[in-house]
Amino acid sequence: MKHKTIAVIGLGRFGSTIAKMLASMNHEVLGVDIDSEVVQKISPFITHAIVADTTDEEAIKALALSQFDLVIVAIGGNLQANLMTAMLLKELDAPKIVAKAENNIQGKMLHKIGVDQVIYPEYDMALRLVQFLTRDHVMDYLQLSKNISLIEIKMPSFLVGSCLKDSNLREKYNLNAVGIRRGEDLEVPPNPSTILGEDDKLLVIGNNSDLDALTM
Ligand code: ATP
Ligand code: ATP
Ligand code: CA
Repeated sequence: MKHKTIAVIGLGRFGSTIAKMLASMNHEVLGVDIDSEVVQKISPFITHAIVADTTDEEAIKALALSQFDLVIVAIGGNLQANLMTAMLLKELDAPKIVAKAENNIQGKMLHKIGVDQVIYPEYDMALRLVQFLTRDHVMDYLQLSKNISLIEIKMPSFLVGSCLKDSNLREKYNLNAVGIRRGEDLEVPPNPSTILGEDDKLLVIGNNSDLDALTM
């Protein structure tokens, strides 16, 4: 993977977590926040950390953000600061802008401003959580489209001691297994002859309605 230069504006819980993760993956990360305490706290963990009000045209210009591969606007709660920062970044020709929205209307405004991608971390996390919490045996969940998901489930009892080849998973359930997790190991693609254990997890892709048959 090519290492990128990335600026993260707004170092709240979300922004600071993202900034540290990117830095730990050896990307060059600039963190920006209006709050000097927040900036001081993160500075040992990322490449540069700067105090600036990014709604101030001169201040944001001075950051030379058009030189970065990616700018992430992680100011969420403060609507005005979020929108103004996104707009100024657009004017400054930042090559790629990703901005956080807390709701749909904010997302629409960000799209109108012309940001490249709007993310809804709270909404996405909530969606993931309700899937965990309400479906039995679901360990992890990724919605790929409106109707199609990838889920990781505890091994259904009818598969324990059997293998995918003898499972009828495709014919009877209309689902495809894409991986078998055993402890630290993930078998991808799954060998259709692997004998499935009680403690194994199965990664399955399919229609939500078909997945329901395995998880409800
Ligand atoms: P999170 O949910 O990520 O913790 P939050 O809801 O606590 O965020 P936000 O309003 O989204 O708070 O702000 C995130 C960060 O953005 C804060 O650390 C705040 O200081 C910073 N911030 C707010 N306004 C500006 C601004 N004009 N310029 C730079 N940083 C700002
Ligand atoms: P097919 O033509 O359906 O792909 P195949 O004759 O190529 O089957 P296998 O790949 O051994 O033979 O699979 C036989 C059957 O085992 C499949 O039809 C399916 O029911 C099941 N199966 C194998 N692998 C998977 C998988 N990854 N996910 C779901 N079912 C599987
Ligand atoms: Ca928040």
